[in-house]
Amino acid sequence: VPSLPTNAPIGRIGDNTFSQYAGCKRFNQLPLSQKTKDGLKDSKFSKMTEIQRASLPHSLAGRDILGAAKTGSGKTLAFIIPVLEKLFKQRWGPQDGVGSIIISPTRELASQLFEVLKSVGKHHGFSAGLLIGGRKDVDMEKEHVNDLNILVCTPGRLLQHMDETPNFECSQLQVLVLDEADRILDVGFKKVVNAIVSQLPKHRQTFLFSATQTKSVQDLARLSLKDPEYISVHEES
Ligand code: ADP
Ligand code: MG
Repeated sequence: VPSLPTNAPIGRIGDNTFSQYAGCKRFNQLPLSQKTKDGLKDSKFSKMTEIQRASLPHSLAGRDILGAAKTGSGKTLAFIIPVLEKLFKQRWGPQDGVGSIIISPTRELASQLFEVLKSVGKHHGFSAGLLIGGRKDVDMEKEHVNDLNILVCTPGRLLQHMDETPNFECSQLQVLVLDEADRILDVGFKKVVNAIVSQLPKHRQTFLFSATQTKSVQDLARLSLKDPEYISVHEES
């Protein structure tokens, strides 16, 4: 049994948390595809933040993650990297449809993380779309949504597509991300998110990231995650 790293940033040390990658500090020490490594390098990311160091060994190994870390701690890459790697390992291609859905509370946060996805994922061949409210081209979106591999959405717009778009198809979904889950719930999307999660295939990997761990975040975690690795990072300042 490997010994416990003395500064382990992992909230709960379970039997299955040890990994040969647990002590890694830099992205290029992780078992990532060259395409992802190149995207990170081009985007000038080299050293991992605490939440990335603590969660990536588990998320890359296929586990569900319940991650808590304050705003600005780097949660976005903690899920974008394993989303890209999962689809890459599955050789996901244009014909395979929606492989990942990333849900974000607001149009602005969704747009920001979409930019990170495009930048870090630019060497991969996946198609990605930003589905957010307030845009007039919902009818055009409906024609293309089934051709996209990665959907970055606000909850309302995603549910609208699930309800209205003919043949909306996500039965092959591999990875679901609930980003900024505390804010998703704060802005009143509890029922919408529950309705979305209940319509998604059960066999998938799920990441739930949040700045705070509230009771309602825990309720959503119980509904959406399967035997998650619980990772809570409080960076000492
Ligand atoms: P959070 O979602 O936890 O609030 P973000 O993912 O938005 O945090 O990241 C906050 C900031 O930190 C962004 O400007 C991002 O580019 C930067 N960042 C994230 N990860 C790293 C990293 N490994 N190295 C350098 N900067 C990073
Ligand atoms: Mg964030």
